Amino acid sequence: MLSAAKEVDSPIIVAVTSHIVFSRFGDFETFVACVLLNKRTLKIKSPVAIHLDHETDFARIIQAVNSGFNSVMLDLSQISIFEEKVSYLKKVVEFVKETKKEIFLEVEFEKFTGKDADYYYQEVTKSSGYSGFSKEKIANQSFREAEELSKLSDKFAFALNMNNIHGIYPRDWEGLNINLLRSVSKRFKNPIVLHGGSGVPSSQISLAIKAGVRKINISTSLQLAFSVAIREYIVSNRDVVRKGYLADTILETLFSSVRKVAKNNILMVTEFRNKKNEKDF
Ligand SMILES: [Zn+2]
Repeated sequence: MLSAAKEVDSPIIVAVTSHIVFSRFGDFETFVACVLLNKRTLKIKSPVAIHLDHETDFARIIQAVNSGFNSVMLDLSQISIFEEKVSYLKKVVEFVKETKKEIFLEVEFEKFTGKDADYYYQEVTKSSGYSGFSKEKIANQSFREAEELSKLSDKFAFALNMNNIHGIYPRDWEGLNINLLRSVSKRFKNPIVLHGGSGVPSSQISLAIKAGVRKINISTSLQLAFSVAIREYIVSNRDVVRKGYLADTILETLFSSVRKVAKNNILMVTEFRNKKNEKDF
């Protein structure tokens, strides 16, 4: 990700979950050190933010911030009682305030419509449309919850449920709920984050940015770039030609595919961001 940002000279947010941190790096400090070391090695001058994504545990948020993360996402979607969500968020907002550091705080307060891709495929795509989900009901609930939570502070961002999905979007996906986005961003000062940005058509991304989205999460398209590149590498027998079996050679092929997709996404978002106030955009 860092080399992609370097190639297009763009700021970037490197996002990770605590599961990846603990299973691959050991602890938050080591992860932060790796990112910063990479930044130094690549001589990156643009800002690099380090973000902890989908965190449900307050203690881990504290640990991450104390270790150098400057962006955290509190995932409250597993809590069913709204009052509990409010009091949890309150604690985290207070903590961030007390650190006196510049920390970007983001909160997901409700499950995205298709958060669990498997569930989505099993339950939703079986029938046409979104049986079991009423788009309007979800949008009204999102708006009401945003209204309540924004009373706490406008110093955190909403990871809004706007008909977005983590994973691959199905063919009959109806698109982002741009009207909800517009009404939330018009009414509240809190910035809005789009999760599940992979695979959203560029026309929708441009509308979303214009309607108030200020951060876009991309994961699935990077993961797919990696796995498709593995498949192509093996299917085309590149691993059995000369020294194509070398791990470093294979990894460089995979990483360059991921880098290309990352760069394209950065360039697309940068272009729309720069144009967001243009009339014809
Ligand atoms: Zn997400």
